[in-house]
Amino acid sequence: MGIDTEVGSSGRVFPAGARAADLLQLWLARLRRAEVKMHPNHRWRDLTPTGTLIFQRPDGASREITPAGTVLALGGASWPQTGSDGAWTSILARHGVAIIPFAPANCGFETPWSATLLSRHEGAPLKNLLLRAPGGQQQVGELVITRYGIEGGGIYPLTPFLREKLAATGRAILTVDLKRDLAESEVRARLAKPRGKNSWSNFLRKQLRLDGAAFSLLRECCAEADFADPTRLAARIKRLPIPLTKIRPIAEAISSAGGIAMDEVDAHCMLTRLPGVFAAGEMLGWEAPTGGFLLQAAFSTGYCAAHGLLAWLARPAGGR
Ligand SMILES: Cc1cc2nc3c(=O)[nH]c(=O)nc-3n(C[C@H](O)[C@H](O)[C@H](O)COP(=O)(O)OP(=O)(O)OC[C@H]3O[C@@H](n4cnc5c(N)ncnc54)[C@H](O)[C@@H]3O)c2cc1C
Repeated sequence: MGIDTEVGSSGRVFPAGARAADLLQLWLARLRRAEVKMHPNHRWRDLTPTGTLIFQRPDGASREITPAGTVLALGGASWPQTGSDGAWTSILARHGVAIIPFAPANCGFETPWSATLLSRHEGAPLKNLLLRAPGGQQQVGELVITRYGIEGGGIYPLTPFLREKLAATGRAILTVDLKRDLAESEVRARLAKPRGKNSWSNFLRKQLRLDGAAFSLLRECCAEADFADPTRLAARIKRLPIPLTKIRPIAEAISSAGGIAMDEVDAHCMLTRLPGVFAAGEMLGWEAPTGGFLLQAAFSTGYCAAHGLLAWLARPAGGR
């Protein structure tokens, strides 16, 4: 498309300059050249049994179109202010399409922090942690202490496991290794050194390079008695339990799990109950972590659906 690419430190490929607006303009120009007609601000409201799509126009009037084929790309249910409110689920459900209820994905979790922790460290990032979900799934990454609990790239890939545990038991423990680059025996050995007149925070900063936010988190999630014993404290530093009480609302989540059950579509993303109607992107019941994987899945299923539609239109019977 004429945009240079560059490889980021993670090995991922980005448009040079990382300006989404330039990419969008080129895309729109390409669609215009292909004589694609766009009808912005039309809300899809219904689908009749005979395949007519009913839209609400910006002036409130209704508009009907009976296409030879349809690709739906209506997104999931997070960030509804962008228009992706998941209202389409009721239309497809009326046609018998199985819908898995939406749930937040790539999102924050709640834990009742003390006022002291929040006053000192709200918004503080804790980096280079090893995070473990209840089932043992783990992820290296970052956590941010927020007003309501935690957020951040490190927990997003663990969302499905934490969400499942919370739904089943009303509680989930996220276990954090604050010093993932040091073996527990080494942490223990450093903690066994005399503390002298150092405060705990100074001592841990000098021995383990634990910063203020990490130290306060340790204080928050440990018992006083843990500090009296280097073995117990080392174990806490390597496996600090953060009790999570709630998942954040879907409206705030970066993406949503749920949507059209994957066994409702064929290999070309066509709805088997609605021949000629294809679905792509976050409408479908997959979930993925951030880091480009969601966009990639949306593009890939869009590509798959578009090729499926072309094959559908070219089939001998033609159309619906
Ligand atoms: C804050 C944020 C950050 C993100 N960061 C990343 C990231 O770093 N990497 C990554 O891979 N992904 C990221 N994502 C996720 C990614 O943006 C989505 O997964 C992707 O946009 C999904 O594409 P989609 O086409 O399926 O749906 P959407 O992009 O949601 O598009 C659906 C469109 O359908 C329209 N629509 C819905 N219902 C109707 C209706 N009834 N009638 C008419 N139109 C309708 C909506 O208005 C919307 O324009 C992020 C998302 C958010 C919110």
